[in-house]
Amino acid sequence: MAALGWDGLDVILVTGDAYVDHPSFGTAVIGRVLEAEGYKVGVIAQPDLSSDADLLRLGRPRLFFGISSGNMDSMVNHYTAQRKLRNDDAYSPDGEIGKRPNRATIIYTNHIRRLFKDVTVVLGGIEASLRRVAHYDFWQDKVRASVLADSKADIIVYGMAEKAIVEIAKALDAGESASELQDIRGTVVFAASDDNGFHGVMLPSNVESIDKLTFHRGTQLFWQHHLADVLYQINGGRLIKHNPPAETLTPMELERVYALPFERKPHPCYEGKTIPAFEQIQASITSHRGCYGGCNFCSIAAHQGRRISSRSQASIRAEVAKLTKDYKGKKLTITDVGGPTANMYGSHCRLDWPASCKRRSCLYPSICPNLVYDQERHLDLLREVKQVSGVGNVFVASGLRHDMAIASSAYIQALASKYAGGRLKLAPEHSETEVLKQMGKPSIDSYMSFSEQFFHYCKRAGLKRQIIPYLIVGHPGADLNSALAMRRWLIKNRIKVEQVQEFTPTPMTISTSMYYTGLDFETGKPIHVPKPSELRKQKELIMWHKRRQ
Ligand code: SF4
Repeated sequence: MAALGWDGLDVILVTGDAYVDHPSFGTAVIGRVLEAEGYKVGVIAQPDLSSDADLLRLGRPRLFFGISSGNMDSMVNHYTAQRKLRNDDAYSPDGEIGKRPNRATIIYTNHIRRLFKDVTVVLGGIEASLRRVAHYDFWQDKVRASVLADSKADIIVYGMAEKAIVEIAKALDAGESASELQDIRGTVVFAASDDNGFHGVMLPSNVESIDKLTFHRGTQLFWQHHLADVLYQINGGRLIKHNPPAETLTPMELERVYALPFERKPHPCYEGKTIPAFEQIQASITSHRGCYGGCNFCSIAAHQGRRISSRSQASIRAEVAKLTKDYKGKKLTITDVGGPTANMYGSHCRLDWPASCKRRSCLYPSICPNLVYDQERHLDLLREVKQVSGVGNVFVASGLRHDMAIASSAYIQALASKYAGGRLKLAPEHSETEVLKQMGKPSIDSYMSFSEQFFHYCKRAGLKRQIIPYLIVGHPGADLNSALAMRRWLIKNRIKVEQVQEFTPTPMTISTSMYYTGLDFETGKPIHVPKPSELRKQKELIMWHKRRQ
């Protein structure tokens, strides 16, 4: 602040992550976007809560505190699917665990409220976003109210927050109070007391005591209406208002974000330490946002949205050129060019993602005829990145949709011979149709078709490559019989998996609703939900090569 000649700040962001000034870190993006709008922004990263010194260090902001748990939900960050404490935290210096509290959004807000009376508090980040309405909390095994009611903040910004946060800053700057900000897209607020019109959909209320069937119907209502309608819900005795999501950034808007003056480094206070999450992404490129896969266990659709916004090749090339500058004399390996799903780059809906479309997924149960998903767009981009002076290898490490990729043998051939690296990660998630149906994933046939072509092209190029299949055990609807069937499938195809993911019911997903209620999301009929002991047995069956025969 002294170096910049600032004697006060407009906005202070408090985050549970270490501060890395890079566009893959939400706090950095929000800070840089607000700064580009002319606001003075400060960041308090991983404050030490044993005293108030860190939280008081930057004074009181003129407009608001923005609070986030960081890039992950703090409970997912801290605990495994067996509710055991993890050993490390990829978003902390040297991976040290315990640098943020459990339920960081609520804890930080309580401290800020205690220290700064009547200051405006805006919540953001994935934890606030996916706990924005009543939700099942796996760690307490109960339904919790919206984090807005639990924390007593003023407003939640959910999803990718650039547009909403700027709108909030401008409105507060113009003299409006937080309680007047009722209609900003991408926000959840306490409904104004004169908002008696209920021009929207009422979700089941008083969530702490609702039965499972009501919770199931409430989740269905949410997913049917959240894109187009205003939703209401009583939480902790107060009425909250959920506005529809913010408009997706256009490609040009997205490019402006990536062109902001990020230093692309961790803050110098971490000198001598490494931040594992940064190490992993420092040479990777985000080519687009959004995912229309709509897998039931995934929260990307509820956070980023399914509409794809892709950066131009020119914008991506410029970013890569900047990256290569630090590697004078050496060739830079670009470790990833992708997004939530790499081969969705450049794809779009022929009808421009109409609000009237009732499908949750553009891919399941079959690929929508209105989806335009030319796989060569991603391939062209990979070739362009490889052409940038100073670049050596270019790889794809983001997930791929194999059901889309099989539309182009040229794409699979290029992956096999150039861009997959030694090990390509694919996520069939299971082999059995009934389980895949509960997950909203395509049948295993498309995975088999992809693998066959992939290995054919590897052989032709004289390369030895592996596909690492990601599999989930313990998903609602998966029982021991389906695990046995998957074991037979793995043995038949000589697939040995090194790791199997245990299903974790993270807040607000459709699979989590099925886990909690024991009801099929579509039909409402009872389904099998594996207990932890069965989950372990399923895992043992899948890791067939690690068991004594
Ligand atoms: S019309 Fe098809 S491609 Fe367009 S949004 Fe709906 S499901 Fe997706």
